[in-house]
Amino acid sequence: MLLKNTIKRFHLILFLFFVSFMQHATEEIHDIDIYKSLENIDEIRTSDPKSFSILLSEISNKQDLMSKAERYFFDYLNAYKLIYIGKSQEALPLLHIILLADDSDPLIKFRSRLTIINLHGIEQNWTKGLFHLSIILKELPEISNHRTKVNAYVVAAMFYNQIGQYSLGLKYAQSLTEIASTPKNICWAKTIEIESKFNLKQLNDIDSNIENSIISCKDEMIPRNFIRSYNAKLNLENNKPIEVINILSPYLKEVTATRYPRLIVEINTLLAEAYWLQENLEKAKEFALKSTEIGKNISTTQAVVAAYKLLYKIAKKQSNHQEIALQYHEIYAELDKTYIDETKAKYLAFQLAAHKELEQKNQIALLNKENALLSAERALIKANADNKRFIILILTIVISILLLWGYRLLKAHKRIKQLAEYDHLTGIYNRGHFSQIANAGLDYCKSAGQELSIIMFDLDYFKKVNDNYGHACGDWALKNVIHACKAIGRQNDIFARLGGEEFCILLTSCDKDSAYQRAETYRQAIADINTKESGFDFNITASFGVTDTKTSGYDLEKILADADSAAYSSKYAGRNQVTIFQAKTQKEKNSTELDSSRNAF
Ligand code: GH3
Ligand code: MG
Ligand code: MG
Repeated sequence: MLLKNTIKRFHLILFLFFVSFMQHATEEIHDIDIYKSLENIDEIRTSDPKSFSILLSEISNKQDLMSKAERYFFDYLNAYKLIYIGKSQEALPLLHIILLADDSDPLIKFRSRLTIINLHGIEQNWTKGLFHLSIILKELPEISNHRTKVNAYVVAAMFYNQIGQYSLGLKYAQSLTEIASTPKNICWAKTIEIESKFNLKQLNDIDSNIENSIISCKDEMIPRNFIRSYNAKLNLENNKPIEVINILSPYLKEVTATRYPRLIVEINTLLAEAYWLQENLEKAKEFALKSTEIGKNISTTQAVVAAYKLLYKIAKKQSNHQEIALQYHEIYAELDKTYIDETKAKYLAFQLAAHKELEQKNQIALLNKENALLSAERALIKANADNKRFIILILTIVISILLLWGYRLLKAHKRIKQLAEYDHLTGIYNRGHFSQIANAGLDYCKSAGQELSIIMFDLDYFKKVNDNYGHACGDWALKNVIHACKAIGRQNDIFARLGGEEFCILLTSCDKDSAYQRAETYRQAIADINTKESGFDFNITASFGVTDTKTSGYDLEKILADADSAAYSSKYAGRNQVTIFQAKTQKEKNSTELDSSRNAF
């Protein structure tokens, strides 16, 4: 227990040394006075720990007035104070609260995490330390505060060296060298770099680096003597005990004055080993014993293990010390095992962290793949939807074009039909179409045994109208004649213009007497046309001929010829009248034929 506490205390010295790099960058300021005060307290915490402690207690009265950011800043300083007075276990939860808070300053969070890593280093809690370190290294590029950045590199480099990951330690020590600006920072950067290089077997004893680094550390006792220890180790490896003694002996007092046990143990063991090689057993024993004495207070180091091993070997060599040799061997064996176990634990912690990191990366890669798959799926769905929309659009356009085309075709067809079936001037059937309809009507009436009449008329002296009032006036007259007739006709009467100023009306289910009556009304209506509307004043009359199927039969040619004949009779009789066709008797027929043959001669 005592040993453990002492270990912690010594680590603490190192911790306090490094946290002294930490400074604060300004954040959102709620109360200028409180924030400024906290910054001032932060500033003096390593240089004047006493005032730091007093001022921090004083400002704790203003906690109610603090903003959230100030509150977390205050908590951070309190955690520092707790660590300083040896209450690391109380500091840890406080620092974790800062980490978890959404509204704490990111820089304070970062600094809190660095402190947590240091605490885990002290507790030899490698796994947790590595976990926080991986976060720090991820966040590091975002950190602009120089001192915090420097501190992060120090923490990373030292932590990696502590767990035996020297190439990583070297990497961050070199990053630290790149940005280190103060002599103190440069010195520590070089020290860690040398430690890493030594363990990676990249250091040689003629390396000017060693001398330069010692010069860089002229104000820093601990690092400068650590550099000497690595130089001595190199010489020891090369079997140069005199060099080792020459390098270390002049600084023994200085080393003791640092009161840093790890360094003292290191130097004493190195000297003991040098004297052992020189076969100076007394000196070797003296330094080895000093090393084991100081080493009692710290966790197992290779130097202490080596010192016990040396004591065992010395005792063994002295023939009367066999029992002591056995005791030393037992301690040595136990410590060696502990040391190996601890080294293994560090290595395992690192492997575990690396494995977790890899797993996380795999997970991320997997998620990325899934995301890519989902994106592709989404893109496919979108493309399908777009295609469907496009197809619908094309179909709509095609259908619209077809509909428009169909509509135009229909219109054209109607127009052609109109042109083919109707007389363009009067709007009634033309001769061709009338023939079709009349034939159909006759067929029907014939089969149904119904009567059908036909009225035919020809305008009187129409040539004169054209001659006297112009062709346009003649057209006006033609239109108005039909207009007047249609106004009094039945819905299903079939009007047709047979040609020029010759018209006919087909009346279904109508005998010739009724047709005569109708023809009379037409005749009157035509005669009543007010021609003044044309701009001229003249008379329009027409001569009518009427016949029916009873008289003329169901042949269209015949029935039309008979009606025409009757109309001619009206003309002959003086025009503007209606004549019903009278079928001639056989006697009349014969006399007519005789007359015509006489005329032929
Ligand atoms: P009537 O039948 O009484 O014996 O004498 P008419 O003068 O009517 O006889 P005719 O058949 O010689 O003349 C018919 C005239 O009708 C000849 C022509 O100028 C005119 N006509 C024919 N079709 C049209 C037309 O579409 N428009 C106009 N303005 N006149 C037309
Ligand atoms: Mg005529
Ligand atoms: Mg005429």
